[in-house]
Amino acid sequence: MDKKKVRVRFAPSPTGGLHLGGVRTVLFNYLFAKQNGGDFILRIEDTDQTRFVEGAEAYIFETLKWCGLQPNESAIHGGPFAPYRQSERKPLYKKYADQLIAAGQAYYAFDTAEELDVKRKEIPNFQYNHATRMSLRNALTLGDAAAKQLIEDGVPYVVRINLPYNKEVTLTDMIRGEVSFNTSQLDDKVLLKADGMPTYHLAVVVDDYLMKISHAFRGEEWLPSAPVHVLLWQYLFGLHNMPQWAHLPLILKPDGNGKLSKRDGDRLGFPTFAMDWTDPKTKEVATGFREIGFLPEAFVNMLVALGWSEGSGKEIFTMDQLISKFHIERVHKGGAKFDYEKAKWYNSEWIKTMPVTRYQLQVADLFAKAGIDVRNDENLVKVLELVKDRCTFLNDFVQQASFFFKAPETIDIAAIQPKWDDKKNLFFIELIKTIELSSSFEAANLELAFKEMAAANQLKPGELMLPFRIMLVGGKFGPHVFDIASIIGKEETISRIKKVLAAL
Ligand code: GLU
Repeated sequence: MDKKKVRVRFAPSPTGGLHLGGVRTVLFNYLFAKQNGGDFILRIEDTDQTRFVEGAEAYIFETLKWCGLQPNESAIHGGPFAPYRQSERKPLYKKYADQLIAAGQAYYAFDTAEELDVKRKEIPNFQYNHATRMSLRNALTLGDAAAKQLIEDGVPYVVRINLPYNKEVTLTDMIRGEVSFNTSQLDDKVLLKADGMPTYHLAVVVDDYLMKISHAFRGEEWLPSAPVHVLLWQYLFGLHNMPQWAHLPLILKPDGNGKLSKRDGDRLGFPTFAMDWTDPKTKEVATGFREIGFLPEAFVNMLVALGWSEGSGKEIFTMDQLISKFHIERVHKGGAKFDYEKAKWYNSEWIKTMPVTRYQLQVADLFAKAGIDVRNDENLVKVLELVKDRCTFLNDFVQQASFFFKAPETIDIAAIQPKWDDKKNLFFIELIKTIELSSSFEAANLELAFKEMAAANQLKPGELMLPFRIMLVGGKFGPHVFDIASIIGKEETISRIKKVLAAL
């Protein structure tokens, strides 16, 4: 039998930065498409012009590029179902609205915003539905001829779905199984707006049909809209080729109480956007995972765990491993609590295990921002290897390794002073001489010489190592002190010792 080609879509509305939940939706779509030899489509759902935000679309493309989740078809990649921006598909939707009207499954409505406001004040929890529609200004109450006349006269109108009363609508969700809704709970959603643009509800169904989408993965917040979509699928296409639905679990606040929002991130001190997002109106910048120093591999790995687990306890996965191991059936129904400490753990694991050559350029850029040019430094890779275990974020390399490239500006003399004496002073003067005369400056040789000299002077190497570290690094941190000396070289080591001796 011919297997239907897998085609999935991510369908964001370009209304701002991409929240981590959005990127996780992309990821699940992408993994499912790739493991089934299918295509991943990016469709921009920009029919609500009032919510359009400058720069949001470009941000989405940039985020997907950073994460390595490239679409097969999109507004910039092109494809056989172009255009991929709904605003550019505007003329296409009207005929579907007309088809629904002709069948009595939708109707024209002429109520003005003010009239609807009056109703909202009159009726608590007002809904445009079976109970109220016959007291409102629409083709059902005015009659077809009068409605036609109003339209000819240029009176603005919308098209609403005519929901049946008290009907069960059931859909099979790949994660949740059978989910049923009663139409009496729903309202007659607007399908076509006064400006001729479809609303999301009509456009999503028409485009999923025209673009031959086989599986629709989206956030759980869309589940309440699903019965309207299923009814539209039934009315317009007899359910023929309706995608299989999968509503992904919410990402919750760290305490599990409700959906994670940008405000929670601001309050608790962590990013919720993939990359920095500057609000074009307020100019307020929301920090992103990329800028805070996450590797895209770690970001993706952390996201997949928000709602999915492989089952074996293994936590670190490359994209290729995820493509083969991910199963939508193993996605949990319940919301996934966001844990920033765990997110950081993923990043530090990736920093440790990934070859440093893969992120050396990014780190060099971060050094450049701090005014240190390491781009052509022959020791860069060696240095990154030495300190990577101490870094949670890429930005930590600057703090952890600047002293390799530049003498420390501040030196914690106070940590040496209390136990300083002439004996130690003489030891370091002698150390300078030994270093000057040494033919090799390997860490192991230096360590041996250092320890022999300490023994000869009846000093404990432990008591000398801390001052030596502070001379080279400025504080009580960094990798093995002899590795540091060997990398910064003879002259620099001597100069840093002398500088501190002079200050003591
Ligand atoms: N345009 C919707 C959004 O902004 C997409 C929902 C769907 O995937 O059906 O998230």
